[in-house]
Amino acid sequence: MTSIPPGSGFPLDRATPATRVARTAAGVRRLAAGSRDLETIDARSSVCRACPRLVAWREEVALTKRRAYADEVYWGRPIQGFGDPLAHLLVVGLAPAAHGGNRTGRVFTGDRSGDWIIAALHRAGYANQATSVSVDDGLELHGVRIVAAVRCAPPDNAPNPAERAACAGWLEREMTLLAPTTTAVLALGGIAWRATLASLVALGWQVPRPRPAFGHGAEAVVVNPQGREVLVLGSYHPSQQNTFTGRLTEEMLDSVLERAREQDPSQHPEHGPR
Ligand code: SF4
Repeated sequence: MTSIPPGSGFPLDRATPATRVARTAAGVRRLAAGSRDLETIDARSSVCRACPRLVAWREEVALTKRRAYADEVYWGRPIQGFGDPLAHLLVVGLAPAAHGGNRTGRVFTGDRSGDWIIAALHRAGYANQATSVSVDDGLELHGVRIVAAVRCAPPDNAPNPAERAACAGWLEREMTLLAPTTTAVLALGGIAWRATLASLVALGWQVPRPRPAFGHGAEAVVVNPQGREVLVLGSYHPSQQNTFTGRLTEEMLDSVLERAREQDPSQHPEHGPR
């Protein structure tokens, strides 16, 4: 099987055979703009076929599989956002891993990067458990939602500029729907950082110029169209390349999440969303 068919009862699958399918970048923009809620974005983005190279790759991986997962049915479709629909913190990752999210059907689930970020979110009080292994493992996120800047697994973890631009349509709509509660955005890695700032500019948010450079612990204060300040934070991506080498440590990730937590209105109920 090259992917899980929509509407087949897979956990978290909000799509049905009737869900409209985007086949071009313009189609993504059109269907995203017409999505009035996160459930619709979830459904529509999860059946998207706008990037031929990525569609072919995600389905090829789902068909051939890694030997360790030979008995599993791979998701093989785009990965929708996951977490609290009223999140104050939006975490933006790069793209699902071929045998992680592309296999399990949930962002940052079933691979070592997921282990890292979910464990950190658990330490920070955003997750009810420290592990993320499958869609039915009981993981719940509170106050945070995670999305990928590119929703399909790319070869070599490297989406090309056209693919990043196409998928920005989903990201921007999701940012818009989450904007009423968003007080912080955490970008994991340089590509996610640039995608985040570019999307905020496209949405009419005030972003410092020149655009702030990415680095671990980088911060930028942006202003949403309602005039509210939102803190954009950067962290090195929790890839094995970074965590195995010590370039990113648990303490480094924890300190960035601590800054995000400081923006949580529930910690300062007298102020409300700022
Ligand atoms: Fe659609 Fe994004 Fe996947 Fe491209 S990367 S096919 S725009 S979901």
